[in-house]
Amino acid sequence: MVKRYWPAQLSQAAKSLPLNLQWLAAPGRSTCAMGAAAALAVGTAVVGTASAAREPLNLQRTAVVSELPGATPADPVPEAPADGMGSTTAVDAPAEPAPEAPPASVPLDELRVTSPFGWRENPLLAGAPEFHNGIDFGAVTGTPVKAAAAGTVTYAEYHQYGGLRIVVDHGNGTETTYNHLSGIHVEVGQWVDFNTVIGAIGSTGNSTGPHLHFEVLINGEYHDPAVWLGI
Ligand SMILES: [Zn+2]
Repeated sequence: MVKRYWPAQLSQAAKSLPLNLQWLAAPGRSTCAMGAAAALAVGTAVVGTASAAREPLNLQRTAVVSELPGATPADPVPEAPADGMGSTTAVDAPAEPAPEAPPASVPLDELRVTSPFGWRENPLLAGAPEFHNGIDFGAVTGTPVKAAAAGTVTYAEYHQYGGLRIVVDHGNGTETTYNHLSGIHVEVGQWVDFNTVIGAIGSTGNSTGPHLHFEVLINGEYHDPAVWLGI
């Protein structure tokens, strides 16, 4: 799947930048810094060097997005204009709108957004923008985490940045991920229905406090979970 937002030179430029800069999460914020890695994952996918869609956080190199030449904020709105999302050199912008069918459920009974999807300022890097590829919901440790829709578990183990992480494949190219869990209650290959409790809130991996980092991928592209959830 060719990404439309990230020119090939983006990933090339990123490889020359120092590592781990974006993991400077602000203390006291129940959030995580999984964004820049995701941006790189998208860039890497352009040149076809990684299967970023399934495990986008496995990259060894990270970078501050704001320092990347040609970086352009990805527009999460699926109804793309005909001009191909701006002036980047990205290619292969599909004309069809991405599927945005609302799921049957939400991952937590109480949704308290502590960090939304999209570009945000990193207070420890002079407000340098970074791309947050999911949405953070704050909750106390142990709070049940539910599958947002029916599907098959494709990942259920510890991840370097996501901590205890679950990925559910809903079919039609749609996946959701659940990160920083304190416990995992499902296994790879298991079918889960919407509302099935699959894990528990935690702060494992790259996290500064208990919360759920929830991602929505459609055909390997990150979408705004708030839009997908209809919240
Ligand atoms: Zn997050």
